[in-house]
Amino acid sequence: MTQTEASSASSAAQPPVPSTGPDGSGQGTVRGRSVVPGVVYAPVTWVTERPELPEPTETVPEDRRDSEFEAFTAAVDTVADRLAARSHNVDGHARQVLEATVAIARDRAWARKVKKSVAAGQTAVYAVRQATEDFIVMFRKAGGVMAERVTDLADVRDRVIAELRGEPEPGIPQVDSPHVLLADDLAPADTATLDPDLIVAVVTEKGGATSHTAIIARQLDIPCVVATGPALQTVTEGTAVVVDGGEGTVETGVDPEEARSRVDAAARFSEKVRSWTGPAQTSDGQRVQLLANVQDGVTAEQAAASVAEGIGLFRTELCFLSETSEPSVDQQAERYAEVFRAFPEGKVVVRTLDAGSDKPVPFVNAEDEDNPALGVRGLRIARGNTQLLERQLDGISRGLELSGRTSSTAQTWVMAPMVATVYEAKWFAQLCHERGLTAGAMIEVPAAALMAEKIMSYLDFVSIGTNDLTQYTMAADRLSSSLAYLTDPWQPAVLHLVHTTCRAGSVTRTAVGVCGEAAADPLLACVLTGLGVNSLSAATPALAAVGAQLGEVDFVTCRNMAAAALNAEGAEEARTAAAAVIGR
Ligand code: PEP
Ligand code: MG
Repeated sequence: MTQTEASSASSAAQPPVPSTGPDGSGQGTVRGRSVVPGVVYAPVTWVTERPELPEPTETVPEDRRDSEFEAFTAAVDTVADRLAARSHNVDGHARQVLEATVAIARDRAWARKVKKSVAAGQTAVYAVRQATEDFIVMFRKAGGVMAERVTDLADVRDRVIAELRGEPEPGIPQVDSPHVLLADDLAPADTATLDPDLIVAVVTEKGGATSHTAIIARQLDIPCVVATGPALQTVTEGTAVVVDGGEGTVETGVDPEEARSRVDAAARFSEKVRSWTGPAQTSDGQRVQLLANVQDGVTAEQAAASVAEGIGLFRTELCFLSETSEPSVDQQAERYAEVFRAFPEGKVVVRTLDAGSDKPVPFVNAEDEDNPALGVRGLRIARGNTQLLERQLDGISRGLELSGRTSSTAQTWVMAPMVATVYEAKWFAQLCHERGLTAGAMIEVPAAALMAEKIMSYLDFVSIGTNDLTQYTMAADRLSSSLAYLTDPWQPAVLHLVHTTCRAGSVTRTAVGVCGEAAADPLLACVLTGLGVNSLSAATPALAAVGAQLGEVDFVTCRNMAAAALNAEGAEEARTAAAAVIGR
């Protein structure tokens, strides 16, 4: 039942113009973030309600406090034993998740907090709530991976509270036929035991691309959409829906015959993706380089084993997220060489530190800023500290020597993030050229797109970062799930800036790539190609679907898709209009 991306469907000459709401979504469509592609048609089932959280009640009499705490330890034992038993039936990440949840349930510091509150006269259920709350605050403050563990804590809390009250275990309902699972957010322990024969897709209101839900859905290869926001609540238990994991949509009210034909078309396309080996080109031979986004040697090796022709974005800041002091040139060189070794030939595009905002690097971003996305991030960190950038460029040069990446077919390009002015581009290019490095800039600030022609006069290439370009064009935080309707790279305003950049590229004969998430969307990849982009770089698992889709259309069709999208009033209409060009 799991299938990847619908291909051609019936021919519709005129795209329907979606009409409702500020996000332009058609009626009956809930939109979220795409995590795992694939199209399924099945009824939905919602996860079982979480228990209502207790309020403080009267003080428990002293002579009942010991038994109150015993009830807590018994409930913890039951919950932990149940999860541990489940962990024995699964492997890999699923087992790790369950074991981690058991460890949280058996955490001594948490039990001590509960004990203290019970000893002071609180009920066990309320003590559990309070103790967990303290840890949640602590984990949120710590941020990063710790903050992501808040869902695990809340899950253990809910299971123990339900057990103490004698209520059913919260989580995934028992179903005996294929269903789409809907949830506010899935607890890790729930995702770990999903049966892909019965739960054929997962859609959550919250969550992100790195949540447990996303990881497990990828592992099980079931379509997955996250961050739909509260709109998902309009889909009631038992309603038949079409989930398109690639588009990030959940549709109700679809004619069953049409739904099945979309599922079949997706299955056919999925077969093509599986057997696609590259190189990427349109059906009439217009080449587009297909590259991978990586962050270290391991992900570079994965890319090398895939259809990727090279690396289009090496996010160097991700190598140093926990470093409190700047690594030496030699230490940096070692890290970069790991990536270079994975691709002895072909292109590798290294981005200098994009520290700041959502990716603070301790040795760079020491001070708190009121508005970090608009603050000292990307190339700006080197403005008062040119040596930091120079040492990185030296590290890159030395990493190249270490790796022996000297073949005449090996191209190593270096680009700066968050370039906003012509002066910045000129300054960066000079520092690179002094070292014999090929210099480029990311186009992710609208100012840079508008000034692209002048910027390119100093550079050897540019790469459009559609994630930030969308964030800054739409003035909408890219991490906000409630603003996902704005942070959509199909926004025509964003596409116009891509178009402006591509036109500048053709005037100045400068290579223009795209390395944001937009490059991972097969339909949008056709539009970007039609706009004049020469390379597309995305996470390795997304590449084959992009290549297979490009092979199904000719270049004129790509241009027509681009024109249709540019002409749209909004993101929804742009997507629908581009799809209609190829009869979808
Ligand atoms: C982008 O902004 O599109 C991009 C590729 O950079 P990052 O996602 O690392 O900010
Ligand atoms: Mg960016």
